[in-house]
Amino acid sequence: PYDGPTGDEIMNKRREFLSPSMFYFYEKPLNLVHGKMQYLYDDNGRRYVDAFGGIATVSCGHCHPDVVEAIINQTKRLQHSTILYLNHTITDFAEALASKLPGDLKVVFFTNSGTEANELAMMMARLYTGRHDIISLRNAYHGNAAATMGTTGQSIWKFNVVQSGVHHAINPDPYRGVFGSDGEKYAKDVDDLIQFGTSGKVSAFMSESIQGVGGIVELAPGYLPAVYNIIRKAGGLCIADEVQAGFARTGSNFWGFENQEVVPDIVTMAKGIGNGIPLGAVVTTPEIAQVLTHHNYFNTFGGNPVCTAAGLAVLRVIEKEKLQENARVVGSYLKERLLAIKDKYEIVGDVRGKGLMLGVELVTDSELKTPARAETLHIMDKIKDMGVLVGKGGFYGNVFRITPPLCFTKEDADFLADVMDCALSKI
Ligand code: PMP
Repeated sequence: PYDGPTGDEIMNKRREFLSPSMFYFYEKPLNLVHGKMQYLYDDNGRRYVDAFGGIATVSCGHCHPDVVEAIINQTKRLQHSTILYLNHTITDFAEALASKLPGDLKVVFFTNSGTEANELAMMMARLYTGRHDIISLRNAYHGNAAATMGTTGQSIWKFNVVQSGVHHAINPDPYRGVFGSDGEKYAKDVDDLIQFGTSGKVSAFMSESIQGVGGIVELAPGYLPAVYNIIRKAGGLCIADEVQAGFARTGSNFWGFENQEVVPDIVTMAKGIGNGIPLGAVVTTPEIAQVLTHHNYFNTFGGNPVCTAAGLAVLRVIEKEKLQENARVVGSYLKERLLAIKDKYEIVGDVRGKGLMLGVELVTDSELKTPARAETLHIMDKIKDMGVLVGKGGFYGNVFRITPPLCFTKEDADFLADVMDCALSKI
C-alpha cells in the first residue's frame, strides 16, 4: 500500500513551489504512484488503462523490464557526457537508429527533448541553404523555444517571441480544412506563400505527419509529396517532425512520413524513443550534417550513456515484441469500434488517425462542426472514473487523443470503446 503524500498535499506544494503555468488533467487530478505496461495505478491502488501514455513518452509500456534493466545496468557502469570521450552506447544506438531510416538519412545528433531536436533541425536547414524562411503548418506543434514556438501554429502555445521568417500554411485538415481531402490544393498554398511571401527561395518546410497536439489531424492524402516537390524547387529542405507519429506508432510504417511515401532531408524524434527517459534526436544526411562543423556545437547530456542505452533497449523491444504490427492490428480494430460509436452519437463529429494514434472529435452541431469543448472535458472525466485515461487536444480542446503504449491489447481496446460508449450514452 502507498503511504506517501496525498493528492491534496502534492497540489498544495505544487501551488507553492512549482510554476503556476503547470496544468493538469481532471477536476481532481490523479495521484499516480505506479505503472506497469499499459496500466497505471493511483494512490488508492486503483488501476487505469492508459490510453494516452504513448504521447507522454511511453512506447513499450510503463516500466518495461528490458528498458528498466538497460537503464539500471548503464547507470551502475557509467553516466557521463558523451562529448569528449568515447563510449559505445551512443554509437550502438546511432547505428541501430540509422538502420531504421530510409535513403541517406544516417547521421544522428542526440538531444534531450523534441523542442531541442526541432530547434537544431531548423538551424541546420538555415545554415545549409543560407536562407531564413521556413514554412510550417497552422495547427502544428513543434516546441516551445524561440524558433520552434515560431513554427508552432497555434496561438494558445505562443508567447511574444520574435517569429522571424516563419510562414504558416493552410492546414491540410480533411475534416475542417477548406479543401477537404484534396492534398494538392492545400499544397498550392505553400507555393503561394513562397511566391508572394518570400524571395522565392526558402530554407525549409517543417511538419508532423499526423498532428498530435493539434488533435490527431492526418494530412490530406497526397499533400506531403506535392509540398516536398514545391519546397525542393524553391531550394529548401524538408523536415519531418516524428516526435509523436514516429517509432512504430502508426503501425503500417515505422515512421509517420512513410504513410505519404516521402523521404525527408531531416527527421526529428523524441518522446517514445526513450520510453520515458529524456531523449531526442535529429537524423540527417552526411552532407547536411557537415554544417555543424563550421563552429563548435555540443549538447552536454544529449546522447549520454544512460539515455542511449535506454533508446537501444526500446528499439529492441519494439522489434522483439512486434509492437509495430501490434499497433497496426489493435489500432485498426479500435478505429473500427470508434467508427461504430460515431454512427451512434451525433456529438461524435469525426474519428481519425492511424495505428495507435487515434482521435475522436466532439461537436455540438455536426453541420457547423461547433466544438463541444465542455462536453469533452465532462466525458473525459467520466471515462477516467470508469478506469480509462485518454488525452485531449485540438485547438478547441474538443478532441480525445488516444495514443496508448504500443503493447495495448484488443481487450484494452474493447474496454476503452465500451467505456466511451457508456459515457457518451449519458450525455
Ligand atoms: N514536436 C511534436 C510533434 C510534439 O508533439 C512535441 C511535444 N508535444 C514537441 C515537438 C516538443 O517536444 P518536447 O516537449 O520534448 O520539447
